[in-house]
This record gives sequence, structure tokens and C-alpha cells, in this order.
Amino acid sequence: MARNGIHHVTAIAGNARRNLDFYTRILGLRLVKKTVNFDDPGAYHFYYGDEAGSPGTILTFFPWEDAAPGRAGAGELQETVFRVPEGAIGFWATRLADYGAQRSTRFGEAMLSFRDPDGMRLAIVGLPGIEAEPAWTTADVTAENAIRGFHSVGLTLNGTQATGDILEDVFGFREVGREGDVTRYAVEGTSPGGIVDLRAVAGALPARLGRGSVHHLAFRAADDAAEMEMVRKLATEHGLRTTEQRNRDYFRSVYFREPGHVLFEIATDIPGFAVDEPADRLGGALKLPAFLEGHRQQIEAALPALA
Ligand code: ZN
Repeated sequence: MARNGIHHVTAIAGNARRNLDFYTRILGLRLVKKTVNFDDPGAYHFYYGDEAGSPGTILTFFPWEDAAPGRAGAGELQETVFRVPEGAIGFWATRLADYGAQRSTRFGEAMLSFRDPDGMRLAIVGLPGIEAEPAWTTADVTAENAIRGFHSVGLTLNGTQATGDILEDVFGFREVGREGDVTRYAVEGTSPGGIVDLRAVAGALPARLGRGSVHHLAFRAADDAAEMEMVRKLATEHGLRTTEQRNRDYFRSVYFREPGHVLFEIATDIPGFAVDEPADRLGGALKLPAFLEGHRQQIEAALPALA
């Protein structure tokens, strides 16, 4: 069976320590990898996720201390939504009160919207029947309340049709519903990370990338062959060219700008985060790609302190 859906979401943060604290301590996610931005090794790259950093659970950040705040608008991933057991919404409403938590309902599901310390728009959706799914837990975020990966992401676009076509033709999604100005696409039988909502806004200003905004959205490909088949389809059926494949150590990726202007990535499920440190010690040490290992001393000295 094809493995489709969201692989990861990558966003921009300000202060590294504050980001680490919010996602591991407040939200209770696991730091599954601590590395640097391969294209800008003066900055960290943090990966948060479930115990293994499974596709569909991974939220990553480039913390750039001096990044200017982003501006919400058209052509961006504007909302990143986690899934929790239905009974946990009350726990999170209390826990996230200081982060602007507000309850609502979308597509019949109970939802809690809030913002991270950099203003990034996040939400939690409560779902029935997922209590028994494995969870990464901490002292105050126990299994009954813990996050189980992504519920969905929400893209805000001037027009949604061309983006929706790519979700359907290339990434295995199907349109499953509409509510107001939102069209929901889902990969049947895939969770976490099986839903993308496209919100149409007419005449909105373009979003400006910055602190609190999402840099790109990555979709899953099982392996290199599946990725190359997606690349071929994008070229022949949508006239879109991707970058060359880049080795991100934990997955292999291509990138392209979709018609609604969001930066999309395709990332392989393989090899995963246990490729360079033991599964029970993920996120423990600063990991560097081989081409930067020779500069470890300078890199470590330049990175901001985390403790
Ligand atoms: Zn990425």
C-alpha cells in the first residue's frame, strides 16, 4: 500500500531555548533530533515528534534569534493542528490558557486554537477512539492527554483548485468535505497526518515569511522510487519542476513551489531518525551531517546556549 500524507512541517522560531521549552515541556513532544540547518549551520534545526519521529508527527524549527515576525496572508500554511484523545480537550484548554486557547468546532470535531511563543498558529483536535494509540509522555502530559501526531494542516490560498489538483493527483488525497471557505482533503486510512484543509481567501495580501510562520510543508514518499514517480507526475501533468534530490540524512527530499505559492517538499520515509543515534537516545546529542563534522568545534561554539 502506498504511504501518503504529511511527512513534516518546518517553521521559523525566534529564541531556541524558548522554542525547545514550549514544545517539549508545555506540549510534551519528544525532541527526536537536535542538529543544525544544513543550509545555514549557524542555526539549530530542532525536530519534535512521537517516540520515533514517525512521518505525520514531525514538527521542525529553524530558530533564528533575530528573525522578524512573519505576517499572515495568502500563500502559506497558516495552521498546524495536532490530534489528542477526545477527553483531553479540557486538560489542554487549561494548560494552554496563557497561549490564547480558544475552543471551536470544525467539521464536527472539538478544536482548541492557540499560539506558540513566536505567534505560530496551532490547534488541537479531540478525536474519539485514539486513547490506546502509543504516545510519548512526560511527567505532566500523560498518555490520556498526550498529542498523537498531526490531525491536519491548513493552507490559506488566493485560489485552491490548482493546489487541490496536486494533492489529489500526486499525493494521494481526495476531497472529502467543505465547510464555509475550507475544502478538506484526506488520504483514506492515514493518520496521523492524513488531512490538508485549503482555505480560499479572495484578494488577501501575500504572507510574509518570518518568526512564527511555516517555512514549508513536506509530504511523504515511501522511498526514492515513490519520490521520483511524484517528481515525474509534477513535471508531466502539472508543469512543475522540483529541485534536485537533497540528502537530509533522516530522509531524502525534493522541493517545489506549488501554484498557491506554498513551498512543498517531498520527503522519503526512509531512513528515519535512528540512523545516527540509538532510538532510546534520540535528540540527546548535537548531530551534524558528515560534510559539517569537520567544523564541529566552530559550529558548537557559535550556536546559542540551550540551558
Ligand atoms: Zn523539510
